[in-house]
Amino acid sequence: MSTPSSALNVARRRTDLTLAADERTDVLVIGGGITGAGVALDAASRGLSVTLIEAEDLAFGTSRFSSKLVHGGLRYLATGDVATAKESARERHLLMTTIAPHLIRPLGQLLPFSRGVTLRQRVAGAAGMGLGDLLRMRAHTPRAVLPAPRIVSARVATRLAPALDSRGLRGGMLSYDGQLVDDARLVATVARTAAARGARILTRVRAVALRGDGATAEDVLTGERFEIAARSVINATGVWAGSLDEAIRVRPSRGTHIVLDAADLGSPTAALTIPHEGSISRYVFALPQAHGRVIVGLTDEDAPGAVPRVAQPTGPEIEFLLRSLNRVITTPIRRDQVRGAFAGLRPLVDSGSDATADVSRRHLVAVSDAGFVTVLGGKLTTYRRMAEDAVDLASEVRGLQAAPSRTAALRLVDRDVPTMSEVLDDATGLTRAEVEFAVRVEGAVTAEDVLDRRTRVGLVDADRDRCLPAVEAVVARTLADVG
Ligand SMILES: Cc1cc2nc3c(=O)[nH]c(=O)nc-3n(C[C@H](O)[C@H](O)[C@H](O)COP(=O)(O)OP(=O)(O)OC[C@H]3O[C@@H](n4cnc5c(N)ncnc54)[C@H](O)[C@@H]3O)c2cc1C
Repeated sequence: MSTPSSALNVARRRTDLTLAADERTDVLVIGGGITGAGVALDAASRGLSVTLIEAEDLAFGTSRFSSKLVHGGLRYLATGDVATAKESARERHLLMTTIAPHLIRPLGQLLPFSRGVTLRQRVAGAAGMGLGDLLRMRAHTPRAVLPAPRIVSARVATRLAPALDSRGLRGGMLSYDGQLVDDARLVATVARTAAARGARILTRVRAVALRGDGATAEDVLTGERFEIAARSVINATGVWAGSLDEAIRVRPSRGTHIVLDAADLGSPTAALTIPHEGSISRYVFALPQAHGRVIVGLTDEDAPGAVPRVAQPTGPEIEFLLRSLNRVITTPIRRDQVRGAFAGLRPLVDSGSDATADVSRRHLVAVSDAGFVTVLGGKLTTYRRMAEDAVDLASEVRGLQAAPSRTAALRLVDRDVPTMSEVLDDATGLTRAEVEFAVRVEGAVTAEDVLDRRTRVGLVDADRDRCLPAVEAVVARTLADVG
């Protein structure tokens, strides 16, 4: 038998859609965010047959709107949640050393001892970074992967973050965490790794109703409804989980980032970590990204009511982020310098607490009355462990013969895009080869998939509008070629 390829495209979707409707699958996964993709990989690598259905596109939901950090769980220590902190540190270790070192780099995070940062905030921040290093040590992550935290001089601080206001600056504390090249890229890569183990990854297929032994699904492209028979079903639909399982109570919390030109901040090489006014546990981060951008986030706002298809940042959130950043830099960033903004909804499990910032970030894995498993909450960083727990539970309650999880030692596939290629857009550096690769290998079907989820050109509206016609043309030609 030939080894399945990791390539996802319209031709494979057509074949896999027919097979999904005709053959019973061991595990049916609902949702193609990081959690669902992780579940598909965990199950497929244990030797189970897997079908994943995603209503829109891979990483369409929360997973593409994160801060893109693979973090060691320090923030959970602040709320006394030691178990989640340790779990995060262990998962970060596995991701940075074994699973995805090609998708994650160490990122310096600088807490500036600026005039706007009080002595209490400096001491608390520095102590926290010290504790974070203990978590690193406990997880056995070498210093070569994540350097030790250290105090730096004002000169080093302004070299790392040139926009810092040097008046009254007393240096800062520098620590390190993991940064993803991109969150949506992680999702597509996990999904492709699952596909290489035979998983059927079907985008534009919506689950209409779930049972313990399958689902009614709809092909969104044709409107056709069909049944998928399965030995077990895992609901990994994030903030939408409650729409498929009434017993699940999700409490969405909106987190917003703004996108700035790195040049407006002197092209920083470390992230700025700025305490909220009057707080010793909450921060605004200014995080350097690819393509000359910096994202500044994030907020934490209760978002009750109907879950929107795509959450929208609000004016007050954008003002808050600018105000926080401007407290520590020389030349304030104006509203008209904000190049873009995006918001995601945290899929928090409703625990009845007052503020969403206090709701546990640990994941929930539960069996519904109908017999399917729901996996919810957690973080991008902990997706692997969430997936392992979900597949363990599904195997137990549905009697599947599954090997133990293997993903802790399984490296994700590479992204071999030819580097010599026509540049479609000088400002972003977007190439024809990237667009073709997205359609041939990463399952993109539309120009929006390419601009918003395979590359992140779409984070800035002006870049997106400029690139759209060229990308549409390449997508159309490549789709015709793939068949
Ligand atoms: C602002 C913000 C910043 C964050 N930053 C970080 C960070 O830096 N590091 C970190 O580790 N974590 C971070 N997180 C947390 C992390 O992003 C989320 O926990 C994670 O992305 C959730 O992934 P998911 O797969 O569970 O949900 P989603 O990504 O939302 O995926 C659910 C999928 O299910 C699909 N779906 C819904 N209904 C159906 C249906 N009926 N049929 C088929 N498919 C369906 C949706 O289209 C969607 O693609 C952040 C979260 C937010 C909001």
